[in-house]
Order: sequence, then structure tokens, then C-alpha cells
Amino acid sequence: MHQLVIHYGELSTKGRNRKSFQQRLAEHIRLQTKHLENIKITVNHDFMHLLWEHTPVAEIVEILKTIPGISRFEPVHRVEKDLEQIKNKALELFEELTIKEGDTFRVVAKRSDKSFKYDTISLQREVGHVIGERYPEMGVDLRRPTHTLSISIHQNTGANLSLVSYQGLGGLPYGTSGKGLLMLSGGFDSPIAGYQMIKRGLEIEAVHFSSPPYTSPQALDKTKRLTSVLAKYAKPIHFINVPFTKIQEAIKETVPDEYSMTVMRRMMIRIMDQLLIERQAEAIVTGESLGQVASQTLTSMNVINSVTHSPVLRPLIAVDKNEIIELAEKVGTYDISNEPYEDCCTVFAPSSPKTKPRQGKIEFLEESLDIEALVQDAVQNIEIEVIDAQYITSQQAEFDDLL
Ligand code: ATP
Ligand code: MG
Repeated sequence: MHQLVIHYGELSTKGRNRKSFQQRLAEHIRLQTKHLENIKITVNHDFMHLLWEHTPVAEIVEILKTIPGISRFEPVHRVEKDLEQIKNKALELFEELTIKEGDTFRVVAKRSDKSFKYDTISLQREVGHVIGERYPEMGVDLRRPTHTLSISIHQNTGANLSLVSYQGLGGLPYGTSGKGLLMLSGGFDSPIAGYQMIKRGLEIEAVHFSSPPYTSPQALDKTKRLTSVLAKYAKPIHFINVPFTKIQEAIKETVPDEYSMTVMRRMMIRIMDQLLIERQAEAIVTGESLGQVASQTLTSMNVINSVTHSPVLRPLIAVDKNEIIELAEKVGTYDISNEPYEDCCTVFAPSSPKTKPRQGKIEFLEESLDIEALVQDAVQNIEIEVIDAQYITSQQAEFDDLL
């Protein structure tokens, strides 16, 4: 039998909602492990307990690292309430570690079974002693040790030992913060914006504006694969492809180049507003970062934003590009975002867009567009596909078959 204890982190502050948060987290764990085996999950007030039989611990560890709402977790090893067994298990656990020069350790014991022969102090001393004998180079440090061995003695279940603690993603369980629509391009920023919001408990659907034949099928697939990476941290994600060609062409025809970017963004937001209603979502999420490009100055963002009253979440607004890139590497979107396929904004991008567009001027220019009809036409022709974490690998397999 394998066991593991999960600590929730922030959801412990959520009072009344606590139960439903824990339930969501347990469901998510169950979903992400269902291809392996049926894991027994026990929800306690301060921690969650996982019990299973066959799957190697390392495999479960990798999965738990991708689930929002977990602050840390540790594999637990159970032996009988017998000092020799406890000592042997302790040594066995240290053997699995790579101990480096200068490493220190401590033993922390807890005892809910007061009938156990050893009190916590003598248990710590006894076990600490055999570890010190086996690893004379490793000193004891009670304040900031490199390795902490925890031993807890329970009434019914015996002695539980744990040595390695893994950091979880943090954040809140997926879906506990409501639903948002992520504007997903093929760039570096928007997938990371999506990741940040997923981590914060927001259920997301991905919306991509494409302009075939100006944009390629590869550009569309690139965005789907980015969605697949995000699904690894979430659940399967609805991918919504919005046909944007007619609108781009209409803008190209009637709006002077330097204003086209602003008008195009306003059209996107108008469509997003409609989609929020259709998909029953409550916020728009973008990858905007203050000052990064012409459309992301405060003046531009205000003019673009003024077509909607819906909240627009911009988790990257204060994040530098190099930090975004670092996150992209960590999250696993970097290589895909780095592919060269152009999206609709790059294809139609004017050479020098206005960084300070005037609202009045933009509204005047928009009078020559049939905004209502264009928006309705786009919304009526969206295509929806559900993309899961396996999408990438299945695409790769199909591709390999072709070779
Ligand atoms: P990204 O790296 O996410 O593409 P960016 O730095 O290239 O961002 P812009 O191209 O100005 O910035 O886009 C700003 C935001 O608008 C993006 O982060 C994304 O949320 C949204 N967006 C841009 N193009 C599209 C598109 N084709 N479909 C959906 N959303 C888009
Ligand atoms: Mg972009």
C-alpha cells in the first residue's frame, strides 16, 4: 500500500466554502489519476489522505505537482509501533536520498497514542542516534535542517514516517473561482496568463481568433496544442475558434492603417462580450503586459476596454517579458509558442500603430463598419472543440504515422 498526505494551503482560510473546495480538489485528483487506478481519498479538515496499491509513488507525485490548490504533499510510510521497525524504515528512507556535503537533519516525533512505550523526546533521540551513526558526516540542526524526518505514532494505524516533502502548485482548486474566457493567441504571453488564472481556481475556456487563409492551419493547431498544455493543469478545455477574416478584411478596407489595430481589438472584445453570455462565463482573460506593445499602453487599453463592462483580467500586467519566458519554460508552453506561425494580428499588423489613439477618432472611423452584423456573424460561426492534455501526444502520433 502507498500513502500520501496533501496539505491545502490557502483554502484553509475559506470558512464555509471549505468543504466544497476540498471536494473539488479531491475530484480533480480522481480525474487526473483515473487512468492509473482507483485511489482512496479521505478528506480531513487540515489535510487529505491518499491510499493506493500499485502505481509507483513517483508517478502520482508528478501528477500532484500539476494540480492547483495543493501547497505541499508528502509520501508517508507506515510500519508497526515498534522501535526497531521505525529505525529500519528511517534508515531506508535516508538511503533513498542523495545526501550532500554540509547537509543536516532532525527528527520530529508526534504521539497521539500515549500508551506507546517511548515519549516523543526519547523517540527522537533513539531514531536520531541511528541516523547519526550511519551518516556521521551529517550534523543535527534543529532550526533549519536540510532533511526533516517526521514520525507520528497513532492509536490505530501504527507509526507513520515521512522524509521528503514536495512543493505543490499552490493556488486554489480548479473551478472554485468561477469561469473565464481566455483570449489565446499563439504567443508567449496569453498561455501563461491562462496558467496563472487556472492556478487561481478559474475554470477557463480558450478563445482564438483566426483569419484563414491569411493565417495557416498550423497556426490554429499551435494554439490547440497550447490549450492542451494548459489542460494538464486544469481539466479538458473548450477551445473556441472564432472566424475573424471578414472583420479583418472590412477593417483593412475602411480604417486607416495606424488605427486598424485599435479597431480590431475593440471588435475582438465585442465578440468576447457575446461569448461570455453564451458560455456563461464572468470575465475575459488576456496576456497583456503594461507597455509591452502599442496596444498595451494605458491609453490604448482604455480605448479598447471602453466597449465592454465585463471584467478583463490581466494577470501579466506587471510581469516582465523575461519572467514570462521563464514561466513558459517551467509550464511547458515555451517550445510551442516559439514556433514561427503567424497569428491574425501579426499578419494584419500595421507598421506603426497609434500608441495613443483618441476615442472620438476611433468611434468616428467605426461608423463605416456594420459592427452589429459583423459581430453576430462571427459569433454564429464559432467552432468548439474539447481539448485534453493528451491532444498533443495524439497529434504527434498521427504525424509520426504519416512519416
Ligand atoms: P501574446 O504573446 O499572448 O500573443 P502579445 O504580446 O503578442 O501577446 P498582443 O498581440 O498585443 O500581445 O495581444 C494582446 C492579447 O490579446 C494577447 O495576450 C491575447 O490575450 C489577445 N490576443 C491577441 N491575438 C489574439 C488572437 N488571435 N486570438 C485570441 N486572443 C488574442
Ligand atoms: Mg500576439
